[in-house]
Amino acid sequence: MELFKRFTFEAAHRLPRVPDGHKCGRLHGHSFAVTVHVRGEVDARDGWVMDFATITSAFAPLHAQLDHRYLNEVEGLENPTSENLVRWIWDRLALPGLFQIVVEETCTSGCIYRGAPAQAAALRQVDGAAMTPTTRSSQRR
Ligand SMILES: [Zn+2]
Repeated sequence: MELFKRFTFEAAHRLPRVPDGHKCGRLHGHSFAVTVHVRGEVDARDGWVMDFATITSAFAPLHAQLDHRYLNEVEGLENPTSENLVRWIWDRLALPGLFQIVVEETCTSGCIYRGAPAQAAALRQVDGAAMTPTTRSSQRR
């Protein structure tokens, strides 16, 4: 089973490596959307893969670093393309079962990433070690 949760944030950026005159080289803003996809088995007792609130909690510190920011000033986002942004989120999101992240930069443009499982899995194993079905089900959706 696969869950998803969608978040939005507002941010400014400019792309420093585009050719002279390219519109993305100018300072501008977007209403970004980030959809986090998690895969897992449905717990027989709880009847869910994971509390949606767990996804929200995991994304919260990243949201705080991105929302109403100039992305070029965020460490690791000096060239804040959708591709780099989705990898930045993937590498920092400590969430068991993370399967896919979608970043939408505009209503019609976005990026899908199912990234580096080894590195991300190692990160999540550390942070997710304390997460048991009991603690998951004690959180509210
Ligand atoms: Zn842009």
